[in-house]
Amino acid sequence: MTQLINKKRIEQLQSLIRYHDRKYYVENNPEITDYEYDQLVKELEHLEKLHPEFIAPDSPTRRVGEKPLTHFPTLEHKIPMLSIDNTYSEEELREFDRRIKRMAGIGNQQDIEYVVELKIDGVAVSLFYENGLFVKGATRGDGFRGDDVTANLKTVRQIPLKLEPLDGEREIPPVFEIRGEIYMPNKAFQKLNEEKEEKGEPQFANPRNAAAGSLKLLDPRITAQRNLCLFAYSVGYREGLELMTHMQCLEYIQRFGLPVNPYNCLRKNIEEAIQYCNEWDMRRREPDYMIDGMVIKVNSLTLQDRLGYTSKAPRWVISYKFQPEQSVTKIEKITLQVGKTGTITPVARLIPVLLAGTTVCRATLHNFDEIRRKDIRIGDYVIVQKAGEIIPQVVHVLREKRNGSEEVFHEPVNCPACNNTVNREGVYLRCHNPSCSAQAKRLIKFFAGRDAMDIEGLGPALIEQLVDKGLLNDYADIYILKEEDLIQLERMGKKSASNLVYAVEESKHRDLSRLICALGIQNVGSHTAEVLAEHFGSLDQLACATQNELESLYEIGPVVAKSIVTFFQSKHTQGIIEKLKARGVNTRKLPTLREGKNPKISGKSFVITGTLQKYSRKEAEEVIKNLGGRVLSGISKKTDYLIAGEDPGSKLDRAKELHISILNEETFEALISS
Ligand SMILES: [Zn+2]
Repeated sequence: MTQLINKKRIEQLQSLIRYHDRKYYVENNPEITDYEYDQLVKELEHLEKLHPEFIAPDSPTRRVGEKPLTHFPTLEHKIPMLSIDNTYSEEELREFDRRIKRMAGIGNQQDIEYVVELKIDGVAVSLFYENGLFVKGATRGDGFRGDDVTANLKTVRQIPLKLEPLDGEREIPPVFEIRGEIYMPNKAFQKLNEEKEEKGEPQFANPRNAAAGSLKLLDPRITAQRNLCLFAYSVGYREGLELMTHMQCLEYIQRFGLPVNPYNCLRKNIEEAIQYCNEWDMRRREPDYMIDGMVIKVNSLTLQDRLGYTSKAPRWVISYKFQPEQSVTKIEKITLQVGKTGTITPVARLIPVLLAGTTVCRATLHNFDEIRRKDIRIGDYVIVQKAGEIIPQVVHVLREKRNGSEEVFHEPVNCPACNNTVNREGVYLRCHNPSCSAQAKRLIKFFAGRDAMDIEGLGPALIEQLVDKGLLNDYADIYILKEEDLIQLERMGKKSASNLVYAVEESKHRDLSRLICALGIQNVGSHTAEVLAEHFGSLDQLACATQNELESLYEIGPVVAKSIVTFFQSKHTQGIIEKLKARGVNTRKLPTLREGKNPKISGKSFVITGTLQKYSRKEAEEVIKNLGGRVLSGISKKTDYLIAGEDPGSKLDRAKELHISILNEETFEALISS
C-alpha cells in the first residue's frame, strides 16, 4: 500500500519538477523559490532511493535541466556542464567530506583541502578561447548542449576578446575553455526595473532572471546596455596546460584577465570551510550582487579526477545554500489589485520592515484560497520572506501574537474599481465588466508597451491621467488622441504632445503579431501571437477561427484556443476591433523582408511532421525561414511541401489527400542545397 502511495508521489514530483524546470530554465519565470524547488528534488531523490524500481529514465533527477531555448543555435559542450548538489546544513557538509574520504581511501584523521567560493546567483556560461581569441560561448542549457550566445557574451565588457597574460613568459594554450557565472549587479538590476516600470513593461523578478533574460535577447545591442558581469570559476576543456590544483586554475584564469571573485579562498579542512560559509551567511548583503550560498570544491585536481561524477553532478564539489531571509511584521490592511484580464489579487500592506537589505511594505497574498489556507487576518503579525525575489511573500501567521482584534478578510463580491459583481474562476476572482477602469488602465499600459505596440512616451502615469480624465476608455481611443487634448494634461509640453501623436501614428503600421499580442487576450503572449499571425495572416481570419481550427495548430492547446474564441466572441471586443480598423491600425501580416536565396524554397510554405534525424524541428524551421520559406503548423490546400520524418501521423494522410508534395529528409536536404 505505501508502495503504491510512494509510486504516485514519485510520479507527481517528477511532473511538478518538470513543470518548474520549464518555468525556471526555459521561461525564466519561476513560480516557487529555489528553496522550495530544492525541497521537491530532495523528496524525489529520497523516494527514488527507496524505490529504484520506479525511477523513470526521464525523471528530473536523471538529467540536468530543460532543453535550451530555440532562438539560438545550440552548441555541444566538450565536457558536460553538470549541476552541483545542494546542501543546507553543516552536518551535510561534514557528510560530504566523509564520503570523499571513504571513496578516495583517505583516513578520517587526514585533512582535505577545499576551495570555498561565493555562489553567485546568475547564469552559468562556457567561454572558448582558441589561440588566445574568444571564439564562442554558450549557456549551460541541459548540461550537454547549450545556446550559442557568443554575440551577446561579446558585449560583456569583463570578457576579454583576446587573452593577455600578465607575465609575458607564459604561453597561451591553443584551446582553453573557461567557465563562469554571468550576473547582473544589484544596482544595474534596480535601474533596469525602474526603466521597465516607467515604460509599463513587466519587471524582472530578480537579478538572476534579469541576467538570463538579457543574455538570451536576440539583439546584442540591447544586451550591451544591460551591464552584465562575469565571475570565472573554473577551467573546462584545455589542451597543452598542466595544472595541479583548483586554486591554480583560478590564478591562471585571473592571470589572463578574466574576473575571479576576490573572496574565493583556500581552506585546509572541512571545519575551516564551514566556518567560512558561516561568515558569509552573515556578510551576504555586502557585495553588489546576489549570492545564494557557497560552493565548496576539492582543491587537488588529481583527487577530483579520482572522485569523478555521478550521472548528474561531480562528486568533488557541493554547494551550501543559505536559508532565505525572513522578518516579522504586521499586516495593516489588505488591498485589492485588478489585472488586465480582470483578475483580482489580494495584496498585504505591511508595517515597513527591513528585509534582505531593502525596506518592504507590501507582500503578495496570491489568491483568496491562500489567505484562507494560511488563515491570514488584518492586524496579524506574520513572517515575511524574500528568497531572491522582489515581491516578498507571507510565510505564515504568528498566531500566538493575536489579541482578538484581528479581522478576517472577506472575499470581495464587487470589483474594487468598477463595483461590478465578480466571478470565481478556480482559485481566482475576476471582474468581467469590459469597461472596468482598472482593467482598461492595465490593458492600455500593456497595449502601448514595448512587447506590444511599442508607443514611445505613452507611459503608465500618463495613461492613468488619460483614463481618469475620460480621454481614453479603451486602447482604440489612443488613435483619436489629439495634441490639443494632451497639452492640457499635467507635465505635458507642446513638444512631448506632438511627439506622442507622432508615435501613435507610427504605431498604426506594426505587424499583425504585435497587434494580436497587444489586444491582451488571456494566455496569449508574444510568442503565441507570432504563431497566430503566421498562420492566419489577418486579424479577420483569426477572429473567425473555431476552437478546433486553433487547437490543430502546433503549440496551441485547448485552454489558449478557448481564450481566443471567447475573446473574439465578445461584443465589446468586436466594437474595439472595429474602432481600431476604422482608425487605420494595420490588421494584416506584413511581408517579411527576407531575401529569397533559394527560389525553390523562397515564398513556399512548408509543414513538418514526424521526427527528423539530422535536424530538430526548430532547426529545420530555421533553415527554411532563412532561405525565404514559411513554416506553418497545419496542412491546407495552400501548403507547398510536407516534410515527413519518422512516425509522421495524420498530417501525412491529409497531405496525400490534398496531393501536396511530400519530402523525406533526404529529398528535403537535396532541395535546400539545390
Ligand atoms: Zn472592475
